[in-house]
Formats: sequence, C-alpha cells, structure tokens
Amino acid sequence: MQALEHPASAVAADLHSHSTVSDGVLTPREVVERAAGHAVELFSLTDHDEISGLAEADATARGLALPFVHGVEVSVTWAATTVHVVGLGIDPDHRPLQQALSRVRNGRTARARQMAEGLAAAGIEDAYEGALRFVRNPELISRTHFARHLVETGVCRDVRDVFRRYLVAGKPGYVPHQWAELTEAVSWIADAGGVAVLAHPGRYRVGDLRLHELVREFKEAGGTAIEVVTSNHSADQMRRFARMAGEMELEASRGSDFHGPGEAENVELGAVPPLPPGLIPVWHRFL
Ligand code: AMP
Ligand code: MN
Ligand code: MN
Ligand code: MN
Repeated sequence: MQALEHPASAVAADLHSHSTVSDGVLTPREVVERAAGHAVELFSLTDHDEISGLAEADATARGLALPFVHGVEVSVTWAATTVHVVGLGIDPDHRPLQQALSRVRNGRTARARQMAEGLAAAGIEDAYEGALRFVRNPELISRTHFARHLVETGVCRDVRDVFRRYLVAGKPGYVPHQWAELTEAVSWIADAGGVAVLAHPGRYRVGDLRLHELVREFKEAGGTAIEVVTSNHSADQMRRFARMAGEMELEASRGSDFHGPGEAENVELGAVPPLPPGLIPVWHRFL
C-alpha cells in the first residue's frame, strides 16, 4: 500500500543557491528577489563556506513575505574526494560556526595562486588577477571565478569546458586541497541548530561502494538528508538517490544550485523537478 505523501511535498522549496558572497553572480538581495519571481515558496541561500550574505537575504525575504531558511554549503574532504554538505536552519550568529567557516575559507587565496601558477605553466598568464576581477568576497576566490575569466578571455567556450580542460584533477589549474572533515562539518551545522544535507551526491566521482560508505558515514555523523533533486542530477540519479534516502532512512532535499542567470544552461531558481514520491521532505522542519 502506498503511504500518503508528506504534506510538505507540495511546497515549492529551493534549498540550494549561491550569491556574490561566494561564487554566484547575483547579490543576496537579487537572488531572493529572483526566487520570489520564480514562484519559490521556501528558499535558502547556501553560499560556499560563508554565511555573511544571510542577513541581507533574510531581510529581503521578509519584505517579500517569502519564507527563508538560513543556509550554507560547507566544503569537505572525504577519502581524498571533495564533498559538499549543505547546512539548513543554522543560526547565522553562532560564533563557533562563523569561526569554523572562516578557517575553511582560509587557504583559498594560496590555493588560487597555485592554480594560477599551474595555468601559467600551461601558457595562460595572469589568471589570478583575471579571476579576482570576478570575485566580490576577497575571502572567497573559487574555481568558478577562474572559469569565468577563461571564458571571458576566449580561452574556453563555456564554464563547463574550462572545468573539463583546466580545473579538475589531473588538469593544469587543479590544486588538491584539504577542506573540512565530514564529521566536523556535520557537527558545526548541528551545533548551530541546523540539519546537514549531503549535497548533489551524483556529482562525486566515486564508485557505488564508496558512495554507500559516504552516505553511511554521513548519517552516522548526524546527517539528516540527501539532496535527491538538484539541477545536475539526471532522472536516473534522482531515482537512485530517492531509493538510497528511503533505504538509509534519510530525509530528502531539493535545490537548484543556482549560480546566476545563464551561468549553466537551463538552471533557474525553483526550476527542478518535484521530489520523487514516498520521501520525507527535509523542509517539513521549516514550515
Ligand atoms: P571550489 O570551491 O573553488 O573548488 O569551486 C567549486 C565550484 O565550482 C562548485 O561549487 C561549482 O560552482 C563549480 N564547479 C565544479 N565543477 C564544475 C563543473 N564541472 N562545471 C561547472 N562548474 C563546476
Ligand atoms: Mn559553486
Ligand atoms: Mn556544491
Ligand atoms: Mn552549491
């Protein structure tokens, strides 16, 4: 017998997005205004390793009567793989979280300089300075900013092309980096009153066994949900992670991972499929 759908399923939630405070192109205010304009009913701004955009986003959301969830996306290194953990419902004034995120951000500048050296060795000069022109938060220079620079200067056709040719493991602009530990990231989020969501699991280039291991460790660490629906999941991946959420007794999240208009083809705020049936939407906690 099919269980009744959880009532929260009907709410158009978008619980993953970025602003200029990390590697998005719109300000926190603009992102929230755009979400409201795209019929989002429950929204979260989840900048990488940074929560300084939440006050502006929250104030904008209040003005628009758009229910808002304080969020963050923490960079984690798990078994030499970069994994992202979204924290939802965190208290942005929680000092230990602020300090922990500051430590995670620390090191991005040195990493970016090394990336530029790698690119210079491949014949691309002054990429650091070029990337900086796209950076709005000096503590948060990311690969995305390099990608925008290489597109603007005509080295690559689009951001996807830059990553493929220059910014992933084995390519000249890639520099391995040690981010937070999985267990500590989940604890920071929980201690700040939030719930941890394993972001876009379909993106991790690890085999089935490793992925199960990751999800198991995530849950053991206190993780609450898997991001089942996100713009870079195929229909197959959504089905697969829906099944995994059910089997592992984890709740499910939904988010566009929007970075800006035209930034990735067809990615728009709120414009991702509904959750597959039979799951517990993590956002029942925020309604
Ligand atoms: P960083 O935190 O500096 O390692 O940058 C990670 C960001 O790069 C992600 O949050 C995405 O926004 C972007 N990114 C990673 N891989 C890709 C890809 N293959 N295509 C486009 N953007 C990507
Ligand atoms: Mn990003
Ligand atoms: Mn991510
Ligand atoms: Mn993201």
